[in-house]
Amino acid sequence: MNNYFVILAAGKSKRFHKKLDKQFYIYKNREIIDHSIDKSLNSKLFKKILVVTNNLKHFKKKKYSKKVSFIKGGKERSDSSLKALKYLKKYKPMNILIHDAARPDFSIKLVKNLIKHLKNYRAVVPYINSRDSVKYKIKNELFNLDRDHVFFTQTPQAFRFNDLYELSLQQKNKITDEVTIFINRNYKIKFIQGEEKNNKITYLNDIITSKTYFGIGFDIHRLIKNKKLYLGGVKIPFHSGLKGHSDGDVILHAITDAILGATKKKDIGTYFPNTKKYKNIRSPKMLKPIIENLYKSNFSINNLDINLICEQPKVSKYRDKIINSISKLTNLNENQINLKGKTVEKLGLIGKEKAIACEVIVSITKYD
Ligand code: ZN
Repeated sequence: MNNYFVILAAGKSKRFHKKLDKQFYIYKNREIIDHSIDKSLNSKLFKKILVVTNNLKHFKKKKYSKKVSFIKGGKERSDSSLKALKYLKKYKPMNILIHDAARPDFSIKLVKNLIKHLKNYRAVVPYINSRDSVKYKIKNELFNLDRDHVFFTQTPQAFRFNDLYELSLQQKNKITDEVTIFINRNYKIKFIQGEEKNNKITYLNDIITSKTYFGIGFDIHRLIKNKKLYLGGVKIPFHSGLKGHSDGDVILHAITDAILGATKKKDIGTYFPNTKKYKNIRSPKMLKPIIENLYKSNFSINNLDINLICEQPKVSKYRDKIINSISKLTNLNENQINLKGKTVEKLGLIGKEKAIACEVIVSITKYD
C-alpha cells in the first residue's frame, strides 16, 4: 500500500466568490475540502494525504489526522502539483493520486478502482461522456463534434509516481489536469468510467442547496354529546363530537400548528383567535390559507406523521379515508402521510372517551 493522495486546493476560484475561498465553503454540512480529506482517509488506501493550499493558516485552526500534511501551493495548478511531487519524493511513493478539492463527491469505490488498474497501467483516469451537444470553434468557423467521441476527464487521476514526477519536471505549459501530459506524450492511458455526481464545483450556484425544517403540533379537545365528530376533515359516526370554537378537528389543528412551527410562524390561535368571526369555522378553512402560504414561500412538505390518541373510534377503520382527505387538503401524495392510532389503556379523560388528542410532526424543505 505505497499510495499517496494529493489534494490541490490552491486555486483562486475567482468565478466562485470574491472573498471566500471555495474549498472552505460549507457544503453538505462540512467544508468542501474536508470531504476529500475524509474520504481519502476513510479509504485506508493511503500512507499520506497531502493538501496543497495557499491558506495554511486556515488549516492550523482545525484538527486533522497525523496522516494529513499541508504545504503551500504555487501560482498555477501545475506549480502546485509539482510542489507536491517534490515534497513526496523522499517517501519513495509507488502510486500517486492527484485530486481537485473542488470535487467533493467522488466515491471511495472510484478510488479503489483507480488503484486496482494501476497494477497494469501507468496512468488511470476517470471520464464521463458528454450529455450535451458539443461544437468546436476554429477561427470563426463552427464544427459539430460527435458527442459519442467527446468525454470529460475527472479527478482523482492515478499515476505511477516516478512517471508523473519525471514528466512534470519537463512540463512547461499550463495544464488543467495531469493526464494532459500523458496524452501529449502519447502514453498509454487507462480510462475508466467516472461518476456523474463527481462534479466540479465552479460557481456558488452549483452548491446552493435546500434546507429542511421540522415542526411539531399537538391538540386536544373534549368530547361532548350532540356534536358531529370531524377527524382529518372526515365526518365520523360517533356518540359525541369535539367541543371547540371551531369544529374541534384535532388532527387538522395539530397539522396546522406543526406547519406553523416548522416555518416559525407562531401558532394557530394567532391566526384564528376565539372571536365571533371564527365561531364554528370548519378546520379545512383554517388549514387552507396556511398551506397556500407555505407553498407560495417555496416550501414543500416531505411528510406528515400523525398520532391520533383515543380509545374510540378505531383508527384502523377510518385510516384510508382520513389520509385521503388530508392528502386532498394539503396537496400531498397519500404515501407522504402516516396515521397511527394510540390508545391510553383507558386512563384519564381520553381513556374514558371524554377527549381526543393528536400530535403531528411535519418535515418541510425550502427550495431557493
Ligand atoms: Zn384544536
